[in-house]
Amino acid sequence: VGSTALSAPNLADGPLVYIMNTCAVTAEATREAVKQIRRIKAKEPLATVVVTGCGAQVDGAVYDGLPGADLVVANSHKGQLSELLDRHFRGEIPPHAKVFRSNIFRKEDLEPGGGEESGHVRSFLKIQDGCNSFCTFCVIPFARGKSRSLSRSELVRRVQELRRAGVQEIVLTGVHIGDYEDGEGAGLDALVGEILEKTDVPRLRLTSLEPIELTQPLMRHFQNPRLCPHFHMSIQSANTKTLSAMRRNYTAEDVERALNWISADVPGAFVGMDVIAGFPGETEDDFLDTYQRLDRLPWSRLHVFPYSERPGTRAVSLPDSVPRPVRAARAQRLRELSSHRLEASAAGQIGQVKMGLVVKQKEDHLEAVTPDYWTVRLSRAGQPALERGEVAPLRITRWRGAERDRMDGFLEAEWI
Ligand code: SF4
Repeated sequence: VGSTALSAPNLADGPLVYIMNTCAVTAEATREAVKQIRRIKAKEPLATVVVTGCGAQVDGAVYDGLPGADLVVANSHKGQLSELLDRHFRGEIPPHAKVFRSNIFRKEDLEPGGGEESGHVRSFLKIQDGCNSFCTFCVIPFARGKSRSLSRSELVRRVQELRRAGVQEIVLTGVHIGDYEDGEGAGLDALVGEILEKTDVPRLRLTSLEPIELTQPLMRHFQNPRLCPHFHMSIQSANTKTLSAMRRNYTAEDVERALNWISADVPGAFVGMDVIAGFPGETEDDFLDTYQRLDRLPWSRLHVFPYSERPGTRAVSLPDSVPRPVRAARAQRLRELSSHRLEASAAGQIGQVKMGLVVKQKEDHLEAVTPDYWTVRLSRAGQPALERGEVAPLRITRWRGAERDRMDGFLEAEWI
């Protein structure tokens, strides 16, 4: 999450363009983007700075008048970015007309995204954009608009194309993939079924889902070993009162049901979850309800965020704001719970045999990813000469826990 600055190497080589793909999800992301724009302009006064992304869509008050922003291309116009840059360099866009933004809720189409990278053995494929939920803490629907999806036939075609380019694993992404609807009433389960049936992609992986988006037909596909046993559950809380204040349309019991279901039907699956600590109105008892419920349920890792006010969202005006130190302390307790759970899950992997997809080749080791999303390192000494993109069985030998320079730790293994 943040801003990406791309640049040509040297001003003497030609025009220098920075594209700031801004995030709007927290106020901090906006502050950081502004700081970067100012820094670039101070260092490269002749460079062209284009501000695009979600910030350009929802934070016009911040970017439109910012002296360093030469072009502001909101998500509504992102598809025209290269054409607008051409016009800018031909001198056709006067400074007073530098902002390109329209009502995102009127946007009906989807820019191609994901699946375009070459030379990757794992590729992201964007299946939809936008979101039809309006969670009280989130600005995304205002930045991305209503949910729009690509058709199943188009996505099958893109998967086949990626396969021809040598991609071994495809990750289906979007702003809210549970909202996927192909225009003929078919949802995510139908798309997954069709990709598994009509393509030979060896590995298909899903990104964030909400508990009630785990449906029987979708869960059935996890019996197919090509659909990776890896879930990212966007739960945010496991307390019904807090979920209701967030306007999430499921309860703590739904969270419980979903996690128990995964554990029973897809044993050994890796389950990561997003949780917000210290949402407005969350009392110590509400927090303990989340903590204790999570403590007794099956999952592998939490991504914990202390609640942070995002201007322009309804949550900012909710009563009973939780003091920041309390948010931080609750987040810390959840992180400790997560770290113990991850250690225990990792210890349970030792001795297991898994298929590793080689994703990186370093001088002294290879890095592979397993279907259940463990990162595995293998020493190159005495090992067969495997290339990126190859898949081979490996036996897990050791867990190297998280340290300062690696947040999540990794497993070590040997090829068999
Ligand atoms: S479902 Fe996700 S993207 Fe949509 S409003 Fe809620 S948090 Fe934001």
